[in-house]
Amino acid sequence: MTDSVNLTVIGTIDSPYKEKFAIPRQPGIVTAAQGQLRLTGAANNLDLVRGLEQFSHIWLLFVFHGTQAQGWKPLVRPPRLGGNKKLGVLATRSTFRPNPIGMSVVKLDRIEHQLTDNKQSQVVLHISELDLLDGTPIVDIKPYVPYADIIENAHGGYAQEQPDNNIDVAFSDPAKIALQSYNEQYPKLKSLIEQVLTQDPRPAYKQKNVDDKIYGMTLYDLNIQWQMSSLTTLDVIAISKVTDAE
Ligand code: SAM
Repeated sequence: MTDSVNLTVIGTIDSPYKEKFAIPRQPGIVTAAQGQLRLTGAANNLDLVRGLEQFSHIWLLFVFHGTQAQGWKPLVRPPRLGGNKKLGVLATRSTFRPNPIGMSVVKLDRIEHQLTDNKQSQVVLHISELDLLDGTPIVDIKPYVPYADIIENAHGGYAQEQPDNNIDVAFSDPAKIALQSYNEQYPKLKSLIEQVLTQDPRPAYKQKNVDDKIYGMTLYDLNIQWQMSSLTTLDVIAISKVTDAE
């Protein structure tokens, strides 16, 4: 018996989500989110992914690197329950776990073999619908196997249904102009912003209330400012390069 294991990181995620705030709580919710998984070290070899292109979706096992230093507690407050009820950490998908391991099913769009500027070989998995912070270390990849992974009539307890925050997202005139100027670089930017914000990323205790705070979130290298205008609508006020705003 061993009471600890060593894992080797086999890849790293490039994600539009540069900070934890506003990342969807599960994969598959924000379909416009696109990222890359770069294989690293001994795993950066096309042989490891031979045949994987046959699968539309893959499981990613990863380390919650952005929160692991904060440790864990046996009881957590799931945002889904409004942040005021405690459940056992193992009854939740909290990032603060005894072992900071996450698992997400993402869409596998394509596998690419690149040559970097200094002629190094790089295997890149293009993925979408992710819920991962930029820089997330990947410790395993497995094909999503529908016959085994879909469980009809499974019970989802307090998380049976996807949360129904259907907030309408409106863009100010300056935000519309900015969207046009970034259209070539980020063709799915408008959908990405809409799909992220329709979830209402504010802290659980603020949801279902209007507040007049101006929020900021970072997607790619862009700072997006927005504000609630009613319980069911919010306005995107401005979109600017992160460097412009600093
Ligand atoms: N689908 C995974 C799971 O069930 O294990 C993750 C679920 S967890 C509730 C999703 C949240 O994890 C996201 O909203 C984001 O805030 C956070 N997150 C994503 N990647 C992370 C990382 N590398 N480090 C810390 N937190 C991360």
